[in-house]
Amino acid sequence: MKINKHFKELLFVIFFFLNFTFSWSQKKLPNIILMIGDGMGLSQISAGMYANDNSTALEDFEYIGLSKTSSSSGLVTDSAASGTAMASGVKTLNKVLGIDSKNIFQKSILEICQEKGYKTGLIATSSIVHATPASFYANEVSRYNYENIAYQLSIQNIDLFVGGGSKHFTSRKDKRNLIKEMFEYDFVKSIKEFEKSKASKIGFFTYFDEPPSIINGREPNLDKITRIAIDKLSSSNTPFFIMIEGSQIDWAGHNNDGKMLISEFKDFNSAIREALNFAEFEGNTLVVVTADHETGGMSFSGRVNRVITKFNTKSHTATMVPVFSYGPNSQII
Ligand code: MG
Ligand code: ZN
Repeated sequence: MKINKHFKELLFVIFFFLNFTFSWSQKKLPNIILMIGDGMGLSQISAGMYANDNSTALEDFEYIGLSKTSSSSGLVTDSAASGTAMASGVKTLNKVLGIDSKNIFQKSILEICQEKGYKTGLIATSSIVHATPASFYANEVSRYNYENIAYQLSIQNIDLFVGGGSKHFTSRKDKRNLIKEMFEYDFVKSIKEFEKSKASKIGFFTYFDEPPSIINGREPNLDKITRIAIDKLSSSNTPFFIMIEGSQIDWAGHNNDGKMLISEFKDFNSAIREALNFAEFEGNTLVVVTADHETGGMSFSGRVNRVITKFNTKSHTATMVPVFSYGPNSQII
């Protein structure tokens, strides 16, 4: 593993990094897998690793860097502003999606990929309209305008998406049923149906509302969803972009819940392993794993498989977060 010694001022370096891969036109455009551990700072990764027999898929990445996460609102960002930074390459105010601090609507890397002919996918262990995934398809002044955000997803033409929150599509103030309006989609109801579907556009609502945590029984596991999604997106000759979020690492931090945190990290870690296995086998796939911010001001002690966590706050913090990369152009981060 190599270390890039420059601390990047912004998470939006991810955006330029991904966008740069397009200028590399001599070769076939690479697949891009962006994985965001919400609230996953270095302590979360370390504790998760020690609790996982002292091992994580992140050890197998080629490059590692550090990223400063501040937003236009100040040092402490939220998932909307940092999601916008990663997706669109601009800083903005906390709570804002896809609009910069001068009120200009921004195109996301997902939309740029669509223009380049990429297939696209989004996976989250939260609802699909939650701030992190929404940063990739919505332009909204407030991340909490869930019904508007759901509408924007319904017209975005994403090839495949998996997450909770179908209620924002079907139980709406305007009485519309967006699932009915999205007639070109195959809406699957289980992981089996998801695996079997041959449709070119697939929506998989895992839960009506926000999905529960792993310790409260969330199914299916993220590695399974990731494997099937990558399988589907890579089945044609076109390159693909997918964003996969381990959403609830952040919620565990807000709850100051070490047990939840470690189970959410392990779930995300298994998905990272799936993505990395694919990238190693396929040879032209860039994988970037990072976080939008740290949550909880976490520290820990104990020993391998017996980690004792401590938290300093129930909010986000301004500490830098690591960035891991593997594959074509991973050195430029
Ligand atoms: Mg999130
Ligand atoms: Zn949070």
